[in-house]
Amino acid sequence: MATRAVSIRTRLTALVVLATLAPVGTALGFVAERDLRDIRNDMVTSSALIGYVIAEYSASAMAFEDRADAGRTLNGLSRDENVIAAALYDNDGRRFVSYEQRASSVPRLPPSIARARGSLTTVEAEHVTVIQPVISQGTRYGTLLVLVSTAHLRSRIHGYLLSMGLLGLGAIAAAVALALMLERMVSRPLLALADVARRIADTEDYSVRAASVGHGEIGLLADAFNRMLGEIDGRQKQAQQAIQVRDDFLSIASHELKTPLTSLRLQAQGLLMLPPTSVSEPDGKRIKHTLEVIDRQVARLDKLIANLLDVSRIAAGRLLLDPTETNLSSLVREVMRQFEAQLARGNCKLDASIEPSVIGLWDAPRLDQVVTNLISNAIKYGGGKPIELSVASTAAGARLVVRDQGIGISSDDQHRIFGRFERAASLSYGGLGLGLFISAQIARAHGGTISVESTPKVGSRFTVELPRAPILKGAIE
Ligand code: ADP
Repeated sequence: MATRAVSIRTRLTALVVLATLAPVGTALGFVAERDLRDIRNDMVTSSALIGYVIAEYSASAMAFEDRADAGRTLNGLSRDENVIAAALYDNDGRRFVSYEQRASSVPRLPPSIARARGSLTTVEAEHVTVIQPVISQGTRYGTLLVLVSTAHLRSRIHGYLLSMGLLGLGAIAAAVALALMLERMVSRPLLALADVARRIADTEDYSVRAASVGHGEIGLLADAFNRMLGEIDGRQKQAQQAIQVRDDFLSIASHELKTPLTSLRLQAQGLLMLPPTSVSEPDGKRIKHTLEVIDRQVARLDKLIANLLDVSRIAAGRLLLDPTETNLSSLVREVMRQFEAQLARGNCKLDASIEPSVIGLWDAPRLDQVVTNLISNAIKYGGGKPIELSVASTAAGARLVVRDQGIGISSDDQHRIFGRFERAASLSYGGLGLGLFISAQIARAHGGTISVESTPKVGSRFTVELPRAPILKGAIE
């Protein structure tokens, strides 16, 4: 399954947050790294300075081995709350005098230390250790050890990290606010446009419009979109009106044409039935022949007009079925009888295999139309070769098959010949391209189907399947 496309809103928000946070985060990272290094270095420098100054002041006391004076000097460290302990060691590494802050967590001073060559400051988790040689006028008298608490350093770092964190949060809040603003300005109107487009695609209702969103580029886009919709809407209404006018015209024209035509046909048939009286035999034969031709042509015209009338009825949803118990076998035999003369004239054979009685609840005149259409097409496109017809009952109802060995239909055309006014044969064959359309509508209205299998230049086979008792839809749509 294809993954759902990420919405423009999500992409824009992610982009803005990233674009804002990436440089701000990098800058904060650099600054924090540098500041933390500076804070640590400050601590190391100031601790080393304390060590240096105390060593300077203690040098004479150590030279004279004056413990009281050295003790006073060390006690001076009590003014700096960060110094937790300090001790002076003689040149043998033995503790000479010490100072300890009155606090429980003071680490124990070592009773002796190894003699260090030079000054050394090391930072540990809890304290900074400063080792400073005590030297006066080039003579070394001992070593000073000072322990300076890192609590102050840690609280400074904590405070610093806290303010950095707050700054970071502020940057995130600003990025989100910016994203929301952009979302309001850009993605929301675009999403509204996309929503309108989706609604139109779903409902094909071109009367909807996108909301106006000011005069910016998106506003222009929405206005252009709305203008386009207006145009499509207008054209669609025009097209619908034109179709309506055409359908109305078809309906009126077919009615108007049908009335004189019916009367003309009745007249011709009446004349045909008259016994030849006042005319000589050869003239009588000629008149009879002419009248037969007139009758056939009028019948053809009548069928064409009936088809046009059906199309307008179908378009208006007014082609109603009137199903009654119908024997399809008798119906097909009757239609075949009507084609006898035409088949004989064309020297065309029609082989039929019809089960004695295939009965169902169908609209007989409408099925007559379907059978007539299939047989007349088989004659028209069958190239005079034998036509086969069969009627059989099936588990669901009935099956009618008409097969010819004529021009056939290409596979590209097969799906469209059931559409309105669709034709696949050359103009020389004549016809309006309505017979199969109406037949398919009638089959569908009965809950059945009509299908074709065909090979060009080999022939076609049309199959109609009908359910015995169809779920009637009432009107053909
Ligand atoms: P018409 O025959 O009036 O053109 P139809 O709706 O009856 O209209 O048929 C539509 C098209 O289907 C025809 O124009 C023709 O090209 C094709 N067609 C129908 N029946 C056959 C057939 N038996 N053999 C070959 N082509 C056919």
